[in-house]
Amino acid sequence: MPAFHEREPFDPTIDPPLTPLPGHKSASFLERVLRRGDFAVTAELNPPDSADPRDVFKAAEPLWNVADAINATDASGANCHMSSMGICSLLVRQGMGTVLQISCRDRNRIAIQGDVLGAAAMGVGNILCLTGDGVGVGDQPGAKPVFDFDALSLLRTLRTMRDEGAFLSGRKLTTPPQIFLGAAENPCIPPLEWRADRLAKKVAAGADFIQTNYIFDIAVFRRFMERVRDMGLDEKVFILAGVGPLASAKSARWMRSNVPGIHVPDEIIDRLERAEKPGEEGKKLCIDLIQQVREIKGVHGVHIMAYRREHLVGEIIEESGILRERLGESV
Ligand SMILES: Cc1cc2nc3c(=O)[nH]c(=O)nc-3n(C[C@H](O)[C@H](O)[C@H](O)COP(=O)(O)OP(=O)(O)OC[C@H]3O[C@@H](n4cnc5c(N)ncnc54)[C@H](O)[C@@H]3O)c2cc1C
Repeated sequence: MPAFHEREPFDPTIDPPLTPLPGHKSASFLERVLRRGDFAVTAELNPPDSADPRDVFKAAEPLWNVADAINATDASGANCHMSSMGICSLLVRQGMGTVLQISCRDRNRIAIQGDVLGAAAMGVGNILCLTGDGVGVGDQPGAKPVFDFDALSLLRTLRTMRDEGAFLSGRKLTTPPQIFLGAAENPCIPPLEWRADRLAKKVAAGADFIQTNYIFDIAVFRRFMERVRDMGLDEKVFILAGVGPLASAKSARWMRSNVPGIHVPDEIIDRLERAEKPGEEGKKLCIDLIQQVREIKGVHGVHIMAYRREHLVGEIIEESGILRERLGESV
């Protein structure tokens, strides 16, 4: 190993930003899949409580070949784990498409805008803008909540950075971040009547794509999508419906009571309770839901959240036939 002063000089032209296709906002593979009209698949990675990069690659492995992008959560549920930035930096080095999640709970506008430049420079093409869960629901309720931004002001700021090439202060960027901007939505929890209005605000603020929370109540989701179509929002934003395999009736009940934003109807819990193999039934249910949401006009893909059940994601995608259909194979 040569001493530092003996090394070749660093070549600053080596890694220019990736170039988006004409009419695209980013070089993200997810954006490409959505714009060409394919049904997209994103999947959430369970972040490790570890500083070992191999734990990230292990968690990503079941998602690697089936997801158009892997979501790195930002202390979801206000519980501390490896950061979304750390996870994305490891995955982009392996050529994986990532969705960097940013919650407004823990960082102010100065930190977030700097993070966005760093993420884009690393090759992150997608950012999901979240207000974020409050500190009260997490494992460190004494933490100081920041909330300098909310999801809407965060979206507007990142759109300004991308499209106008400037920080919120007005100071110009020399190279703007080329990012595909996302937001979240909870279509199935009250007040149901303003969920589509909230979505409209996120679209007006700059959301290019939406990833929803888990959909277990297809009737409520259909009504939400009807309103979304009536408002013309499905023409303006790509919507990915959230799905996931439940492990048992007990875990479904736990989710219903403890995770904000999720509605699990009694029929679903009964179906799992009656099943001989609840885990298998949870997987089947997830596949059924994928089949149902993909028939709904205006749904452009699925976002799979398989907490502690990532090993099932490949089978779920394979059995649902999404990727085979994309490749033109019969299902
Ligand atoms: C796909 C997905 C990924 C997520 N990842 C993370 C994560 O990584 N980290 C994390 O901390 N959280 C995460 N969450 C949780 C998310 O922050 C909450 O579900 C939030 O309630 C909805 O998304 P938002 O952050 O965009 O909130 P917003 O839509 O901005 O809403 C924030 C809060 O204000 C309430 N609210 C907003 N407008 C109104 C109004 N007009 N009247 C009354 N109440 C209102 C909402 O109900 C919500 O409780 C995720 C959620 C989803 C669906």
